[in-house]
Amino acid sequence: MAFRATLLTLYPEMFPGPLGVSLAGRALDAGIWSLETRNIRDHGIGPHRAVDDTPAGGGAGMVMRADVCAAAIDAAAAAGDPRPRLLMSPRGAPLTQARVRALAAGPGAVILCGRFEGVDERVIEARGLEEVSVGDYILSGGEIAAMALLDAVVRLLPGVMGAAESGAEESFEDGLLEYPQYTRPPEFEGRAIPEILVSGHHGRIAAWRRAEAERLTRERRPDLLAGYGQPTVK
Ligand code: SAH
Repeated sequence: MAFRATLLTLYPEMFPGPLGVSLAGRALDAGIWSLETRNIRDHGIGPHRAVDDTPAGGGAGMVMRADVCAAAIDAAAAAGDPRPRLLMSPRGAPLTQARVRALAAGPGAVILCGRFEGVDERVIEARGLEEVSVGDYILSGGEIAAMALLDAVVRLLPGVMGAAESGAEESFEDGLLEYPQYTRPPEFEGRAIPEILVSGHHGRIAAWRRAEAERLTRERRPDLLAGYGQPTVK
């Protein structure tokens, strides 16, 4: 069964956007995954189809209404729908490769994209939304965050990456950042490729790559080393 993504957004015209090209776009055309966009405004209130209102307690900006968001979710996902319901949110758990892998192993996702100051807390509780963040910075809406999540998930779906593009050795897959990569030409502006990589000695190359991955991780992301050596969640 193909991975089914449903996006709830005020800007359906943003999709598929970048997900329509390259690996993800070819996989979409091939039916390896499907993308449904639904306009939250279809569930808006009154003649102007209002989706937001001023924050209770005062303050700047607007908040997306719980009733409108709930109606959009309910119309998109029937009661028995097994797909996780995600809310893109800077308050969510930071997205990891382990979560991406788990999502890719599942039936799909229903993803609510916030706008304005975010969504009324009560719909998060009432619909059991899992808040997911793509990093410690604020985007103007959840759509680009949802695209990042889906791009990461889709490339892991069976049949999307060929053997040549296999992600087995990539950053995060083994808890380390990736080792440095080189290709032609053999010399670039006076810089040669590390000799060991052209030695043809596979054992020494593997040991060098492992040592470089550990060095880069220690220098740049020592936080990752805390989990290094533990069994990875697949
Ligand atoms: N006032 C909110 C930010 C709202 S930004 C706060 O301070 O937490 C508007 C919408 O953009 C959010 O509802 C969310 O859907 C999306 N968004 C912004 N930054 C994001 C991030 N880092 N990760 C995931 N979604 C994000």
